[in-house]
Amino acid sequence: MKTFKIQIKPLNLPLKRRFTISRGSRDEVNNVLVKVHCDGITGIGEAAPNHRYHETQQSATHFLSEFGDYETENTYDISLLVQKMNDHAPGEYAAKAGLEMAVYDWIGKKLNIPIYRLLQAPGRTGPRTTYTFGIDKPEVMKEKVEEADPYPLLKIKLGTDYDKDIINAVRELTDKPVLVDANEGWSTVDQALDMITFLHKQNVFVIEQPMPAACIKEMQELKLKSRIPLIADESITGRESLQELSSQFHGINIKLMKTGAISTSLRIIHQARKVGLQVMVGCMIESVIADTASALVALWADYADVDGHLLVAENPLKGVEVLPQGHIQLKDLPGLGFE
Ligand SMILES: [Mg+2]
Repeated sequence: MKTFKIQIKPLNLPLKRRFTISRGSRDEVNNVLVKVHCDGITGIGEAAPNHRYHETQQSATHFLSEFGDYETENTYDISLLVQKMNDHAPGEYAAKAGLEMAVYDWIGKKLNIPIYRLLQAPGRTGPRTTYTFGIDKPEVMKEKVEEADPYPLLKIKLGTDYDKDIINAVRELTDKPVLVDANEGWSTVDQALDMITFLHKQNVFVIEQPMPAACIKEMQELKLKSRIPLIADESITGRESLQELSSQFHGINIKLMKTGAISTSLRIIHQARKVGLQVMVGCMIESVIADTASALVALWADYADVDGHLLVAENPLKGVEVLPQGHIQLKDLPGLGFE
């Protein structure tokens, strides 16, 4: 029997600038730093709880303190940890992801091998990541386009009553390919179709979650009519039928904080491939710690949106990097690859 001592600390991350989506605005995110200690080695993880899923820094902290130190017969069998966390309490997927991430980091350090190698990833360089613009008045977009200069793909949050003005303002400044995220912001098929027709002429390559997750019939109709691939985000937590989702969407956006584990995310990606769904790996607003784990999962994806660490004012350490052409790359270091 081995025991992982679990240490948790609030990780409050002020943002470079106010971030607004269709559900609200934030100047700071309140995450949780998770460390595990065993055999003189420390593994590091992060939980980024999201209100959309009824999770907070307090609820994640509560889960992890209640869960307590982790005793296991096999430190390398991550499925034992996932099972034990799920048996302990339902929900709290961000907390679970933070702890699993820390144990994975520990395993790699203990075995002196990068986790991407241990999991036999296709390589350590993933897709190009998008760089996200929160909702803002069209006049603020100029500054944002300048800030995004190093990144070749943009992600623009819509779901306002001036969506076309936002896109027009961006298009006056750049012709970079754009991923649009409506965050459930369009309420009817007609409104969504009108936007898709407009966006189709604006070099938009993917639209994330055009309508509310509850609009299943509407999304089925929209998928048949859309000329731009539609990706599920709020519609998928990882516990839905992928077959059913494939009737509404062309792909799914997997996030560690929704699935609750790297291992679960990889299983979902393999299942998604079987039903012909495209795969995007996204993130919450999180530091480079959780983003490095998200980037690991994104090594198997078609699209990456792993830019949380670019939006926070300061990162606690070094991990995933964005290369000059926009590709995400992990470090060739033991564990998840933190420095
Ligand atoms: Mg989204």
